[in-house]
Amino acid sequence: MSLAVFERVLGAEYVRTVDEERLDGVPIIGEVRPGTSEEVAACLRVATEEGQALLACGGGSKLAWGNTPDASTLVRLSLSRLDHPFELDAAEGFATAGVGISLARLREGASALGKCTLLDGPHERATVGGSVAADAFGATINRDRRLRDELLGLQVALPCGSLARAGGRVVKNVTGYDLVRLHCGAYGTLGVITDVTLRLRPIPEQRSILTRRVSSTDEAFRLAGELGESRVEPAGAAVRFRDGDGFLAWVLEGSEAGVRARAARFEGEIAEARVWEEIDEILASVPPDGCARLRVLGRPSDTETLWRWLEGIGGKPAVALPLVGLVFGDLVEEAVPDAVGAARASGTAVFVEHASPPLKGRIDVFGPAPDTTPLMRALKTRFDPNRVLAPGRLVGRV
Ligand SMILES: Cc1cc2nc3c(=O)[nH]c(=O)nc-3n(C[C@H](O)[C@H](O)[C@H](O)COP(=O)(O)OP(=O)(O)OC[C@H]3O[C@@H](n4cnc5c(N)ncnc54)[C@H](O)[C@@H]3O)c2cc1C
Repeated sequence: MSLAVFERVLGAEYVRTVDEERLDGVPIIGEVRPGTSEEVAACLRVATEEGQALLACGGGSKLAWGNTPDASTLVRLSLSRLDHPFELDAAEGFATAGVGISLARLREGASALGKCTLLDGPHERATVGGSVAADAFGATINRDRRLRDELLGLQVALPCGSLARAGGRVVKNVTGYDLVRLHCGAYGTLGVITDVTLRLRPIPEQRSILTRRVSSTDEAFRLAGELGESRVEPAGAAVRFRDGDGFLAWVLEGSEAGVRARAARFEGEIAEARVWEEIDEILASVPPDGCARLRVLGRPSDTETLWRWLEGIGGKPAVALPLVGLVFGDLVEEAVPDAVGAARASGTAVFVEHASPPLKGRIDVFGPAPDTTPLMRALKTRFDPNRVLAPGRLVGRV
């Protein structure tokens, strides 16, 4: 396909040929960089007319997540120029940001007003749009901190070339179907998000990291269970254990007096912020060559079982987030198809975050197609009939 069709929409300056780049083995032949929502929509219309698959790209830090694209070539739709609007309204408690704005810039802007958002992730490169599309999270997560619950509204460009706005700027604004959350975690398979409105929250007066050293995983998960049942209400908790040594760490956020009172309810050593940053770095790292990175999911009370399951099949669990029932770790690639098949047969959910293209070609990285797959396929067909938006990348290769 000739990229000239995109040049007619954007001008030659914002269209370029790409050589020798691949995503999961699929060649990326070009890159287009629209500067407005309207231009994003125009690129989608052209792609639909030409039958050219597109891959939306923010910071590009999580492009490894998802199934192998079902396309012979891809054009990368970079959202780096979409840095308008950027409006922070501290009084009304919302931020509206173009999707190309980095999480770092959002964090700086909000913190200058004494505010923060759940999108204040540590990743300099990551963007607002990529984080919403991938339903991103870090180690500071618990059952009440869901990104999709913080989204008030968004605008999305659709493959037919139109723009649609869902939600608004107030907390209760959805009448009818909740189309805002539909795009959160859709990996850009239904539309390309162009701006997002989300809640601003006050920066907690106090943030403390506490740890307890442990000499066995038994001890770590016993303590994690006690922490979960206590009235400490951590913003996040993590178990890190390697070579006979490890710790349980947790984060307390709130007023100074509240954090002090909650810290007193469950004994721990005050630790430096770096301890928590290292957990985030482990979550953001990629596995060594020959290994796949697995994210094993269950109920919070299953976390220890999930850890032991990963160990039992020869994997190396690195971090567990016991408040949400998540274990991250690596497994040699040859062992992945059988292990993942067996896990899924026993009801354990496994998401393969990183793997080589040959392995990704053999498995659905999200797990077995759920009962809702026909409904998801119908949605995909309705939104994207020519399958130009990241085709095949979602669960069930939708
Ligand atoms: C509070 C917080 C903490 C975090 N902590 C961690 C951590 O500890 N470890 C970690 O690994 N990650 C963490 N993340 C996630 C990290 O920030 C990711 O890098 C981020 O989710 C991806 O952003 P990106 O711009 O690089 O997305 P990309 O990699 O560019 O895109 C991600 C996906 O979204 C699609 N996409 C991108 N932009 C759009 C758009 N505008 N419309 C539709 N689809 C789009 C892409 O096609 C791709 O499928 C955290 C995120 C947050 C919010």
